[in-house]
Amino acid sequence: MKQIVLATNNDHKLVELRRLFKNGGLEVEVLGLADVPPYEVPPENRRSFEGNALLKARAAMHATGLPSLADDSGLEVDLLNNMPGVRSSRWAGVDATDEENTALLVRQLADTEETQRTARFVAVIAVVMPDGREEVVRGTMNGRIVLEPRGSFGFGYDPIFVAEEYDVTNAELQPEVKDEISHRGKAMRAVGRRLRKLMDTEPL
Ligand code: IMP
Repeated sequence: MKQIVLATNNDHKLVELRRLFKNGGLEVEVLGLADVPPYEVPPENRRSFEGNALLKARAAMHATGLPSLADDSGLEVDLLNNMPGVRSSRWAGVDATDEENTALLVRQLADTEETQRTARFVAVIAVVMPDGREEVVRGTMNGRIVLEPRGSFGFGYDPIFVAEEYDVTNAELQPEVKDEISHRGKAMRAVGRRLRKLMDTEPL
């Protein structure tokens, strides 16, 4: 089976991509960073999701010689001028936990009305092929922030994010339902379509 690398140590992302490819009938084995020989992973120091995703995917392709994907994602809150953005995972500090990041964001928005707290998740995935071809895709999920965390599925800011046209938080959605509507689900499906072409895999 053909192999690709998803340059991440995040098991949630690996599981999500494997599930999406399987459900889409794309027959490729998705390796994570733990499955390839170690190499120096560049720091995510770019100002855009696109910049960080490309940086990571290029490094993975150079290290492994395999088609490589990398994603960068985060939460943009309108009232905070689109922050936390590329700093989402480190919002409360470099080693902050999801709970600490969420708690800080809740404190920052404590005096605001729910209707003001519009936000979106953004996921950008870069694909870098061994022959140098590169593609970047972006998926978004619009919604709003709630100040009481609810639910235990998902990760990150899921317990305080309610997607447009939903009443429950992302962390209360079954994973398959979140995949259907999520920024990463949209970006990963778009990548699946691109990869099919880039890798000459058979259409469904
Ligand atoms: P990354 O690993 O650099 O892409 O960091 C993305 C950060 O954005 C995560 O650590 C979360 O804080 C947040 N994030 C991205 N996608 C999601 C999601 O689907 N649910 C909740 N939080 C997310």
